[in-house]
Amino acid sequence: MDNTFYDIICDAAGNGAVKRDALLKRYTTFRIGGPADILVSVSSQEALLRVMTEITGRSVPYCIIGRGSNLVFDDAGFRGVVVRICESQGDEALKIVSSDAGSAVIYGFAGCTLSAASTFAMENELSGLEFASGIPGSIGGGVVMNAGAYGGELSQCVIKSTYLKLDGDVPEVGTLEGEEQGFAYRDSAYQRNGLIVTGAYFKLKKGTDRETIASKMRELNGRRREKQPLELPSAGSAFKRPKNDFAGRLIEASGLRGFRIGGAQVSEKHCGFIVNRGGATAEDVRALVKAVRERVFDNTGVVLEPEIKFVKERN
Ligand SMILES: Cc1cc2nc3c(=O)[nH]c(=O)nc-3n(C[C@H](O)[C@H](O)[C@H](O)COP(=O)(O)OP(=O)(O)OC[C@H]3O[C@@H](n4cnc5c(N)ncnc54)[C@H](O)[C@@H]3O)c2cc1C
Repeated sequence: MDNTFYDIICDAAGNGAVKRDALLKRYTTFRIGGPADILVSVSSQEALLRVMTEITGRSVPYCIIGRGSNLVFDDAGFRGVVVRICESQGDEALKIVSSDAGSAVIYGFAGCTLSAASTFAMENELSGLEFASGIPGSIGGGVVMNAGAYGGELSQCVIKSTYLKLDGDVPEVGTLEGEEQGFAYRDSAYQRNGLIVTGAYFKLKKGTDRETIASKMRELNGRRREKQPLELPSAGSAFKRPKNDFAGRLIEASGLRGFRIGGAQVSEKHCGFIVNRGGATAEDVRALVKAVRERVFDNTGVVLEPEIKFVKERN
């Protein structure tokens, strides 16, 4: 990446941070990934639009990330620009946009964390996002993944989402409503349509007091701490839940608790997680995912689908 392009991205990002050769392991919860040629952090839709206009106008390869909590970057890093959509400090980041007798709609900027959105809902005595308070992702990444836990998922409350489309020379903004978002289990239309999520509208219920909502969030987060290996780097559940079963149960039944390749290990605490025991490489994780899938298939006949996303050096 030449100096001119770097300067252009710095100008476009405004006060967003731009780094060269940024080690991606610092920006992912798995703590894996080599250097990105350029990493730019944007915390507003305007900055994102400016940055994407420069990138697409020059056909530079790019990758969009939120909190990097569902990702494995290559050990070689990423040749191009990694655009990180971050928490916005402005008043517009999370706001109530409409309200009636029984419900209200909150808008959240893509870079806000799901935990901040849940807390904002709780503070405004709106229920329906308690399940998301412990998911360590952003609103954008959450919509893309249709993140969910404890019987809830974003599809149940995200009534529409806004996007940037990058087909032409200049990015276009738009909205997908209801079924257009293509939500399914840990899936959405955004995993295939190439659009960048810039924000989401959550329809939440009135009628539950703040303490009841807060206590539900505490209870769910307590269950998380008890069952999940939160003390080690990971990207959450490594595999999607197979029909009528649990990936963790099948992995354990296949004798793989604690099974390790290099620095990557099937968690001893929760077999559905792959954890980084120190120095894990993307290759270790890939090899472990492959070995687990093969062993579980041989043992049970079930094909496990990875939930974590591998990003290649060149997309
Ligand atoms: C300890 C732990 C616990 C977890 N628990 C859960 C859980 O209970 N339930 C659950 O569903 N997940 C869970 N996860 C996984 C993860 O937090 C979710 O998938 C989350 O929604 C990912 O959000 P993110 O911002 O980190 O996305 P990233 O990991 O940054 O990105 C995920 C994917 O979305 C794309 N993307 C990100 N932002 C955008 C955007 N704005 N527009 C277009 N594409 C985008 C990326 O390119 C990538 O393909 C857990 C992870 C960890 C580490």
